[in-house]
Amino acid sequence: MKMLLSRDVIAARVQEMGRQIAADYQGREPHLVGVLKGACPFVTDLARSIELPLTMDFIALSSYGAATKSSGEVKLVKDLDQGLEGRDLLVVEDIVDTGLTLNYLLNVLRARGPRTLKVAALLSKPSRRLVQVGVDYIGFTIEDLFVVGYGLDYNEKYRNLADIVVYGG
Ligand code: 5GP
Repeated sequence: MKMLLSRDVIAARVQEMGRQIAADYQGREPHLVGVLKGACPFVTDLARSIELPLTMDFIALSSYGAATKSSGEVKLVKDLDQGLEGRDLLVVEDIVDTGLTLNYLLNVLRARGPRTLKVAALLSKPSRRLVQVGVDYIGFTIEDLFVVGYGLDYNEKYRNLADIVVYGG
């Protein structure tokens, strides 16, 4: 499989994102919400690169299947443990593709009354976007390629690859 982003390149960019987030949230305590399972390595690395007090929670989603795919409607497989009222919420996603999943998720989370809501995504494929959704921190903008590794899977495999590679590439 063809290498797209090596572990060193990913680590350097995640550090940089952490520094930027720490600067932007100075004097506040961001509440990171990692979207399972894909964002797992990213959210834990990112959290360690943000030199601020912070809290973390996780949410797991699953797609309802083809019929509702175009709406991006998702099922909450695991909800958050903590409420969001008044918090500085930072949603941490692996990849934003069409944007449908993130758009749906943000509507669900916004209704819970966070004080602020921002999004950090490791990867973005803007050429695939079907709905405009604001992503405040983007690690890497990539072409329309299917990638695996660093949390991203194909049929639940390859999440443990340290590098991000093009599947079948
Ligand atoms: P969206 O709703 O933005 O189209 O889809 C986002 C989700 O699709 C991501 O959270 C991820 O699970 C999956 N996805 C989109 N592109 C890729 C990709 O290139 N590789 C992998 N492994 N998953 C992807």
